[in-house]
Formats: sequence, structure tokens, C-alpha cells
Amino acid sequence: MNVRVGIMTAPHISCEQRPEGVLLHDVRIGIGFHWDRTEDQLFEGTMEIRDNADGTQTAINTLDVEDYLSSVITSEMSATSSLELLKAHAVISRSWLLRPMLNKADAPAKLGWSDTPDRRIVWYERDAHVGFDVCADDHCQRYEGITRRDAHPEAAARVRAAVEATRGMVLVDPTDNDAICDTRFYKSCGGRTELFENAWAPHHYRYLESVECPYCNTKDARVLSQVLNNYDQETQDFYRWTVRYKADELAAIIRDRSGIDFGDILELKPVKRGPSGRIYELEIIGSKHRMVVGKELEIRKWLSRTHLYSSAFDVERDGTDFVLRGKGWGHGVGLCQIGAAVMADKGFSYEQILTHYFPGAELKRII
Ligand SMILES: [Zn+2]
Ligand SMILES: [Zn+2]
Repeated sequence: MNVRVGIMTAPHISCEQRPEGVLLHDVRIGIGFHWDRTEDQLFEGTMEIRDNADGTQTAINTLDVEDYLSSVITSEMSATSSLELLKAHAVISRSWLLRPMLNKADAPAKLGWSDTPDRRIVWYERDAHVGFDVCADDHCQRYEGITRRDAHPEAAARVRAAVEATRGMVLVDPTDNDAICDTRFYKSCGGRTELFENAWAPHHYRYLESVECPYCNTKDARVLSQVLNNYDQETQDFYRWTVRYKADELAAIIRDRSGIDFGDILELKPVKRGPSGRIYELEIIGSKHRMVVGKELEIRKWLSRTHLYSSAFDVERDGTDFVLRGKGWGHGVGLCQIGAAVMADKGFSYEQILTHYFPGAELKRII
């Protein structure tokens, strides 16, 4: 079974055939996030450069599902990851990929949008893509071809072993005719995971219940290096973090990021919070305008030049400054990668890790 991956869209794409694969130049990764950068990447399988109606070009890589998974996991994880962690990741990456390709009936809403002058509630889904199944950036799953794999043959061999050991295996929901689970993941929940419906469409999945995570509160570099690639290790304070803004700086950020002039920001008021502490409706009260914004990703985007680590924060005033004290990194729904790394390090099996973060889900071999 093949998957089509949209690697990049640009005014002009430059690539060349090498003996080991196709080399794409200037691929931009981590778009809009703090690790945003460009690099050259190498791919196996076939590469198609498609001309779009707006004059841009899109590079689409087609390859076998299990090869794709090996690359994705090598990109997401690191050489030192334990085998149980890699197996858990192989299962959720495979489930996440195959669910929309095989479970057509249960596709989630593409994009949520409730936009009035005083309310903007938005969420994003990956099936906004046209012409390919998944993109290569963090929006779907970070995929860097065989670039990293070839640079780290030992890591690649471990990942390949984990993919082989779980070949064709996904998580299914026995209460929903064994439908493939929506296996979301992120870096750190901050102590408790979040409900699906607070980040995306208003649908409750039983296996995406909010669960305690006593695991991701760690600064153990040996464990963190299993989940965070080199550039991610620039970031250390994800379990608890603080962001401080001068009042005029915050007003400028919100104006630039939302396109709305609120005037002076008078108050940031959490309206709705999920069980993990993530705010999914935030009222911004300014001297010229007031508005409720959500869900979590939109809040994170509006309150930072890049993205806040999460929307699980409290707002304090220190003189005229706004101080955001937050926890966790990412949306908090499903598997906590740092928590899973700690569980694997403590000797839990990949089945135990998966049933902790997806309670009630079951493993099943489907392809
Ligand atoms: Zn995508
Ligand atoms: Zn956690």
C-alpha cells in the first residue's frame, strides 16, 4: 500500500536525481514554529513536481506505507530511543496515517469555523490537503525522507525493527466496530491529557479520555534525547514555562497575528478550559474591541510571534506586564511523547504505553 506525501509548495522547486534518491533543495520545515528553517532533503520512492493553478509548484513523494513510517519515526524520534517507545510510535503513526485512508465513513470535519465580530472559533484538520494524503511538516507528521535515516544508520535499523515488529498493526476502537483510532500525539501534556473535542470538532472519542500523566515531568536529558531531535533540544522548559510581555508588545503581537486592532489590551480572560488546563475559548478585552478566540491552536498563534507552547496557561499582571505561566507543549490530545519515553524507560511495554494514553483501544493487525 502506497502513501502520497506533499513535501513542499514553492514558486519554483529545484531537485536533482542522486544515486541514493531524489534530492530536494531548500525544504522549509517547522513553518511558523520556533524551529522554522530550510534544508536539503533526500527521498526514496517517486517524486512528482506538480504545477498548480496559481503558478506555484508542489513536490509529491509516493512510497510504501511501511517505508514512510520508518522515515517519519526516524524524523520524530532519535537514535537512542528504546524499542518499546519506537514500537508504540510505529502503531500510532500507522493508525494516524491509515485511518482517513481506510475509514472513509468516519472522516472528521475538515475545518471548524465560527466567525463573527465577537467570536472566532477555529480548528484545523489535515484533510485540507488536495492531491496528496499527508504533508511532510508538523501539521501532519514530520517527514524528512531518508535524510536523517541515512545520516544515522544505527537509528534507522532500530526504527526498522520497531516497524517490522508491529507491521500492519493499528489501534482500533472495539466499541465502534473496530474503527481505526484517531491517534493524535504531541510533545508534553503537562500532567494531564486533553479531550479531542476541546482541540478539534465537537466529537467525543471514548479512547481519547483525559488521563493523568505522571511521566512527562522530567529534565532527564538521556530520556528527553529519545524524543527530541537536536533542534528540539534548544527547548527545555516545556513542562512548566513562562512568557512575559510588555503591554504594548502584546497588543502589537495580537494585532499582527489576528489582523484585528484591539487597541490597548486590558485583559486576557479564559472562558473555557479543558481537564488538562488548556484554554479553548479565550476572551481578549481591548480598549477598541473585545472578542472570544479559540480553539487551542488559534489561541497559541494569536499570543506569540511563533506559537505558544500550549494554551494551558494562567495570566498574571506584573505592573503593566502580562505574564503567562503555562504547562505542556502541544495540544495534549492522545499520546504524550515525553511521557511515553519515560514509561518505556521505566520498563513499560508498548501495549501498556498505548493503553495508558488511549484507554479502551485495542491492537489489531489490519494490513
Ligand atoms: Zn498536513
Ligand atoms: Zn504527559
